[in-house]
Amino acid sequence: MSGETLHVYFLGTAGALPTPQRNPSCIMIRRGSDTLLFDCGEGAQQQMMRSRCGFLVNAVFISHWHADHFLGLFGLIQTMSFNGRTEPLTIYGPQWVHDFVAILQQVARFNLKFSLEPVELGQGSWVRFDGYTITAFLTKHGLPSLGYILEEDPRPGRFNREKAVALGVPPGPLFGRLQRGDSIRLEVGDEAREIRPEQVMGPPRPGRKIVYTGDTRAIHMNIREIAHDPDLLIHDATYDESEAERGLEFYHATAAQAGEAASVLNARTLVLVHTSSRYPDAQSHINDAKKKFSGPVIAPSDLDMIEVTFRDEI
Ligand SMILES: [Zn+2]
Ligand SMILES: [Zn+2]
Repeated sequence: MSGETLHVYFLGTAGALPTPQRNPSCIMIRRGSDTLLFDCGEGAQQQMMRSRCGFLVNAVFISHWHADHFLGLFGLIQTMSFNGRTEPLTIYGPQWVHDFVAILQQVARFNLKFSLEPVELGQGSWVRFDGYTITAFLTKHGLPSLGYILEEDPRPGRFNREKAVALGVPPGPLFGRLQRGDSIRLEVGDEAREIRPEQVMGPPRPGRKIVYTGDTRAIHMNIREIAHDPDLLIHDATYDESEAERGLEFYHATAAQAGEAASVLNARTLVLVHTSSRYPDAQSHINDAKKKFSGPVIAPSDLDMIEVTFRDEI
């Protein structure tokens, strides 16, 4: 059972200042037919065009109200309006999201045919979607700020065909009923039998999980309970070790701290983002992170995409 597709597009990987190669923060996650934006820095809509994913965004999650994380919303909403959008657009964010949306509409005079719906989230707030949940957690960035966890519902266990046949279940529609969780009755010789799903299904298997920290100092010890075992940990890695002091001062993490987080949280893959424009490339960041984390470390370029697979299907 492969489930829905799950793709992460890195539309903006820069730190607070864009560079000719990197846009400010924007991550787009597509799961099946759902499209979610996590932060929406300046130029996000052109990056969406370049990624050829369209503008059918179901919801936007903003991590905090620094301009490198939200300025792209102005243009994106304008374009959605030109494109004839009528479905409401929910904008989730930390404290001040209502103020932000009110100011956005006041300043831009959009004349929209759809409503903008601000929803404030806090520590542990969650939003249900079909088949998965987005949960917010507080980060440490010197102002109200959130990270987000996308976690899929567990999947049913594997169907044991041989066992079903041994119990007398004929291959065919009854297999499907057992796989969907129904008990079935059947005659085996003179005996009437009830077969329950748990007799032929393995234990539930975890879905996929993505953690995005937004901007933050090291916080992994605070989020172990809810952010453990992510398939992808997308972590603030603004500075390398030579500027760890600056990280503390400006409420950002170093790549080494991101590596520690990946180890503590038992991440499958670590993704370093929000790299400061002072570095010509992210090699020192990758080296720093690898000293603390033995798994794969990626520092994506803008427009890179990662497909997230199930752990048990590698
Ligand atoms: Zn930022
Ligand atoms: Zn920030």
